[in-house]
Amino acid sequence: MSYSLSIAADLHCHTVASDHAYSTVTELAQAAAARGLLAIGCTDHGVGISDSPHIWHFENLHILPDHIAGVRVLQGVEANVMDYTGALDMPDSVLDRLQVVIASMHRGVLREGTEEEATAAWLAIAENPRVDMIGHSGTPAYRYDYERVIPVFGKTGKIVEINDNTFGARSSSAENCRTIAALCKKYRVRVMINSDAHYHEQVGRFPRCLRMLEELDFPPELVVNGSRENFERFLSEKGLSL
Ligand SMILES: [Zn+2]
Ligand SMILES: [Zn+2]
Repeated sequence: MSYSLSIAADLHCHTVASDHAYSTVTELAQAAAARGLLAIGCTDHGVGISDSPHIWHFENLHILPDHIAGVRVLQGVEANVMDYTGALDMPDSVLDRLQVVIASMHRGVLREGTEEEATAAWLAIAENPRVDMIGHSGTPAYRYDYERVIPVFGKTGKIVEINDNTFGARSSSAENCRTIAALCKKYRVRVMINSDAHYHEQVGRFPRCLRMLEELDFPPELVVNGSRENFERFLSEKGLSL
């Protein structure tokens, strides 16, 4: 691969705790170790979607060791955006205890809205200090005013996810992801490439994201998991380490 990133982590992975995913956290960590990753995120769906684990899943994550198979396992959630005010489906008290919080819009939870509504929701979430990362926001059903919102994500320190799973879902997703990434480059907003793995063989695999970033000549220093150094800087901002 000519685009020179040394991928350190994959922070968006699902375990069997989400009904439509098929690997355990141990299997995810072992797969990450085999691929040379330093960290994964254990980020099952927040409780607002029907296939999610019970809230106890999130409250009890702290019993997991920091490392499994030598890989740092960050305890997290992919929280659901519940409405266009930007409300999430997880209590703040639980979010406060988690190490990585992704906010995503999902069908079945959030009705399809207008561009104005999605823009308002993301602008509200940008101000939520408990959210680390904006999940797969290229989904066509929730198109927002990218030009207006992306710089705000940058100002408020949010990381914009480039999600390999959603990226390939539809041609319009790919187009939206490219626009979002191009704006992140323009406004120097940090991104993270994630697999959104629902099976351990997918961990650390994001060929479509990498190809797109290469085509955009995306600045490697803005890819949070693009090197060990970048990733450790992100962890230290959160008071964490490998
Ligand atoms: Zn999702
Ligand atoms: Zn996901």
